[in-house]
Amino acid sequence: MLNLFRPLVLIFCTIFIVGLFYLINLVREEQIDDQREISTNNPNSLIMPVTASIYPIGWLVDQIINDPLFPVGIIVPSGIEPHEYEPKPTDLQLINNSSLLFWSGGSIDGWVGEQTPKHGMSINLGETIASIYPKDDDGYGKTLEHYWLDPNQLIDLVPVIVRSLSQIDNAKVTEYKRNGANLITSLLDLDTAYKTGLANCNQSTIVTSHDAYGHLGEAYGFSTKTLAGLSPEDEPGAQTLANLSILLSEQSEKYILFEPETDSGFADALSKSTGATILPLHTLEFLTPIQQENHDDYLTLMRANLATLKIALVCE
Ligand SMILES: [Zn+2]
Repeated sequence: MLNLFRPLVLIFCTIFIVGLFYLINLVREEQIDDQREISTNNPNSLIMPVTASIYPIGWLVDQIINDPLFPVGIIVPSGIEPHEYEPKPTDLQLINNSSLLFWSGGSIDGWVGEQTPKHGMSINLGETIASIYPKDDDGYGKTLEHYWLDPNQLIDLVPVIVRSLSQIDNAKVTEYKRNGANLITSLLDLDTAYKTGLANCNQSTIVTSHDAYGHLGEAYGFSTKTLAGLSPEDEPGAQTLANLSILLSEQSEKYILFEPETDSGFADALSKSTGATILPLHTLEFLTPIQQENHDDYLTLMRANLATLKIALVCE
């Protein structure tokens, strides 16, 4: 009798302990959900973190939050070229825990793809751009890449970001709208500087290392010929190098515009063979640690790009 009783007690105890664990876990999950709800309803709290995939998107969102206590987390670290970036487990964790994730769309941060915040929203800003600007002959990807280099396209994104932030932080709607309006003013100033600075130029084509300036050229009336493709890792073929040599030989003033953050091998070779001068032109895809130390940002680097373009396009 005793021998039969013992296993029965053991089975009963096991069922009881497993049940107890299940119950404790259920209560804990409910508590977490309650905390999240309290936090959502708290008028003074922005549910953090707000995350962006790459620098230009992070900068844009940061201007609208405009609160040093709530900096936007940018996934691709400074100094790292985002085209070839592979997210780390900690990046995926950050995305998972975000209340809002903003990303560019296109291939530059295509790795975001299916990664979405567990309890937040994922905002693909490229969808807004694609809905406003028609696709070009090269298709969806090209339309979406590097649109941040045209300040007007960033202006189009401001209302989307204001609306998304307001949804999770209703108490600050007025603040977000005001910051958004200030940001639009800064971007319109930049646009005016580009329009006036590039209004009277003697050349109409620039030679660049990386095919990142199509949107910028379209906005301000110049065309681009490039050594590499949409990613700076692409290598130019012999025909491309030959074509660029011919183009440069026909220009009265020869310049190759090169993003100083990446390897300059092919630009150096073309410069040597054609006598063209290399000038810096930033893609704004990421900041280098030195640019961060210098407090450079989207606006200062876009102004630096304008100075380079005025030289390269021989503007009056
Ligand atoms: Zn690029």
